[in-house]
Amino acid sequence: MATIKNLVFYLDRPGGSFIPREEPVADPGPGEILVRTLRTSICQSDVVIYRQGLPRIRRWPAIILHEASCRVVAVGAGVTSLNAGDLIGLGCDIPCGDEACIYCGTNGTGDWTSCPRTQATGHEFPGFARQYAILPEWFVRLGPVVRFPEVVTADQACHLEPLACCLEGMTRVNHCVERRVVVLIGAGAQSAYALQCARAMGARRIIVVNRGAARLNRLLQEFGGDDVVGLPWDEHVVENVRQACRPFNEPHFVMVNASAEAAYRLGVRLMGYGTVLDAHAGVKTAAGKPKILHEVDLNNDIHYRLQCLQATHGSNLRSIGLAGSWIAEGRLPQLHRMTRADERFPPERLADAIARAADPDSLKVIVEWD
Ligand SMILES: [Zn+2]
Ligand SMILES: [Zn+2]
Repeated sequence: MATIKNLVFYLDRPGGSFIPREEPVADPGPGEILVRTLRTSICQSDVVIYRQGLPRIRRWPAIILHEASCRVVAVGAGVTSLNAGDLIGLGCDIPCGDEACIYCGTNGTGDWTSCPRTQATGHEFPGFARQYAILPEWFVRLGPVVRFPEVVTADQACHLEPLACCLEGMTRVNHCVERRVVVLIGAGAQSAYALQCARAMGARRIIVVNRGAARLNRLLQEFGGDDVVGLPWDEHVVENVRQACRPFNEPHFVMVNASAEAAYRLGVRLMGYGTVLDAHAGVKTAAGKPKILHEVDLNNDIHYRLQCLQATHGSNLRSIGLAGSWIAEGRLPQLHRMTRADERFPPERLADAIARAADPDSLKVIVEWD
């Protein structure tokens, strides 16, 4: 194969700028694949990485962005799961590469984020702010690579990673969404996915609580309906949520999608009979991960009131597969509503794309590489 020139956008330092560089790409070796980036979408974590970096990223300049869909350009010797021309979506959390790892290896659980040597694209592993990438043999064989049928678009495939994170949170505990009342705290992208998933799963009612009016209004404009109630997060929020849960007294599933202690405090106040709380968004400050203490009555609350406190972070083998099949089956027909015309950017405007993602009304910014 003739040598391909790769255009790579390096972020020179946290708070810095994207520097384009042309680099040659080699042919894929045995077990490897060469992919061309089609779409990258911007995660709120990319906004933080762009502005202030992340301890997990030890080397700068860095190639960031971890939500990607790609076209397979060429496969190395021995690759049978993929062919040139395939549309694929990629996860962010990836195996450590150790064949014998109890989480990431051939006989592992697939819980990559539990591995002490866990790594992620756009973090320890280079991200997809580049036209082409070679994925190593272990990535292709063990990692989060989903091949989509031709009916799926590059845009839809790019939702794989954030959707997997959301579905992991919503399905780790069975039977807490179907025919039940769901509360989403926060109105960003994870709540936008959760709203669509809850609807697809047959939730009775979906209540979205948010501090800022801009994102809440955007969410209601794009995904509103008879099954959705939007509530401002004010001093009456607890009683207003309870009111919206009628004829139930409290929600069945509460998903904390706002990265703040206050969101956890609100979440546990909303718990009642049979409520599952998913601590979905972790809280990190410049000083680290603060303790958020909460007293649990194992007998009255957990046993007799059937409450469940749980969490997930990132995506794993199971949720990547689940998100892949949901996208392929078209179970989320409104995904395209997350990205408006002014939320689409060419790679030359990466900094603008990230700035747009930080706007208080933005849901999902997409960078188009083809
Ligand atoms: Zn993400
Ligand atoms: Zn591992």
